[in-house]
Amino acid sequence: MITKIIAETEIQKAKKYVDYVDKIVIVTHISPDGDAIGSSLALYHFLLEMDKQVNVIIPNEFPEFLRWMKGSNDIIIHEKNPQIAEETIAAAELIFCLDFNVVKRIEKLGPFVTQSKAKKVMLDHHLSPDNFCNVTMSYPQISSTSEMIFRFICRMGFFEEINKACAECIYTGMMTDTGAFTYNSNNSEIYYIIGELLKKGIDKDKIYALVYNTSSIDRLRFQGYIMYEKMKTFPEYKTALITISQKELDKFNFKKGDTEGFVNIPLSSNEIIFSALIKEDKGFVKISLRSKGNFPCNQFATEHFNGGGHLNAAGGEYFGSFNDAIKHFENILPEYNTFLLKN
Ligand code: 5GP
Ligand code: MN
Repeated sequence: MITKIIAETEIQKAKKYVDYVDKIVIVTHISPDGDAIGSSLALYHFLLEMDKQVNVIIPNEFPEFLRWMKGSNDIIIHEKNPQIAEETIAAAELIFCLDFNVVKRIEKLGPFVTQSKAKKVMLDHHLSPDNFCNVTMSYPQISSTSEMIFRFICRMGFFEEINKACAECIYTGMMTDTGAFTYNSNNSEIYYIIGELLKKGIDKDKIYALVYNTSSIDRLRFQGYIMYEKMKTFPEYKTALITISQKELDKFNFKKGDTEGFVNIPLSSNEIIFSALIKEDKGFVKISLRSKGNFPCNQFATEHFNGGGHLNAAGGEYFGSFNDAIKHFENILPEYNTFLLKN
């Protein structure tokens, strides 16, 4: 048995919406990660099983290493198909907002979702949710939105309706949001849930390989270059900073998602407890943060980089030049020395 973390009133209200509607849309955040796609496709497979007319709509492209997931070909990408995405949202009777809790995180999809007459249900695990949904299931103590989807479906009484495809998607999101169960993953119920998913026929070892063992030789070489040439360390702060310019991305012909995971690599050193990756994007600079122990990546991202996230994994944006973003990072790092020194 697992603890009833999600409030019963929220489950029942959301269930009523599901019961009474037919056209359902699922949206998730910009630059979707494994948990965003995993939770969305898991709910998608469940709702298909319930004979609903359901679409997953995302703001922009998702990474290659998630393309194996069943249903991923059916995802509508707003940036590529704006008209279909907008019309589908307008026609929806119910919208699920997964793995984000502020409208800003779905960028250009925002106005279409907020202006839609559809009922809205949020399932998310980030801190401080905005109030734009009819039901807000916000549980930062749960390590992934995909785990929340499992809990949500079971609490509605539909464990039987979880099929293998749905279970695979849930597992993928649980795995990716915990770095393959290496952080944020000490709750024993996670492993109970995995046991239940295994009963649905998932091959967890295969899923690991499909997600993580996907580097091309070019990417491995690029990774080597980045680690050798582009990782600056601040030993006094047990911090590593990787910087990647647009010029380098172009030179190595890199695509979206190709730098995924690089930010985690410095944490494999016992001399590093805080790792950052600053990447030049078109019109802004993206930052990814990872940490060990109690260094608050989310606080760092919120206070200085217009972002947010979790204690050990967060991100944000900087609206200025690439070099200024790096300087900004280096200037504020000493402010966090209390966390960095005591770890
Ligand atoms: P990543 O570093 O993989 O892009 O993001 C890690 C986590 O940080 C995400 O799952 C998300 O919770 C959070 N995050 C990343 N970028 C942003 C951002 O720009 N704004 C906010 N609010 N959160 C972000
Ligand atoms: Mn998540």
